[in-house]
Amino acid sequence: MEIIKIERKVLAKNDAVASEIRSALQENGVFAVNIVSSPGSGKTTLVEKTIEHFSGRMNISVIEGDVQTDLDAQRVSAYNVPVVQIITNGGCHLDAGLVKDSMKSLDLVSTDFLIIENVGNLVCPAGYDLGEDMKVVVISVTEGDDKPLKYPKMFMNSKVLVINKIDLLPYVNCNINQLRSNALKINPDLKVFEVSCTTGEGINAWCDFIENSI
Ligand code: MG
Ligand code: ZN
Repeated sequence: MEIIKIERKVLAKNDAVASEIRSALQENGVFAVNIVSSPGSGKTTLVEKTIEHFSGRMNISVIEGDVQTDLDAQRVSAYNVPVVQIITNGGCHLDAGLVKDSMKSLDLVSTDFLIIENVGNLVCPAGYDLGEDMKVVVISVTEGDDKPLKYPKMFMNSKVLVINKIDLLPYVNCNINQLRSNALKINPDLKVFEVSCTTGEGINAWCDFIENSI
């Protein structure tokens, strides 16, 4: 079918640009994560807590992807780190071309850790390589424990799962053990962290993992 052919072509082109990005990052000694999730799971807050944790110890740059507004970039720039906002104007995912363009505004030489916050969407960001070292999928306990089964590709293509908002567990209908086992059923190699960006619980373990990965 024609549509499938076009999609393959688009993805092949994306993969070519993604490997250019990957080479540029490696040459400059930059470790990069691509944070993916549905809207509202707490990606930006995780970015903020991560920057806070590494403050003064690591040079972090951020690429913010959003459908509309630069609200997230404004939040992150309050932490005095270089941040570029990509507004997709309705586009539901970042692609490697957008990331490559936005990287022109960043100084890779002085960056140790690049955080790319993708557009909130559990579907197509899974298929787009952005040249990152790893995809990190964030899910909040308010989203329920069945999401890994419903959106398997995202969990299959991620190396890390951050379960956020665990402080809300007493108030929501989510079995965290079920959530974890559903995710591991899809991808047994997933590294799982349980965090609350509100209370700070689990943030150290997540950041230690990042530090050891760099
Ligand atoms: Mg955000
Ligand atoms: Zn999309």
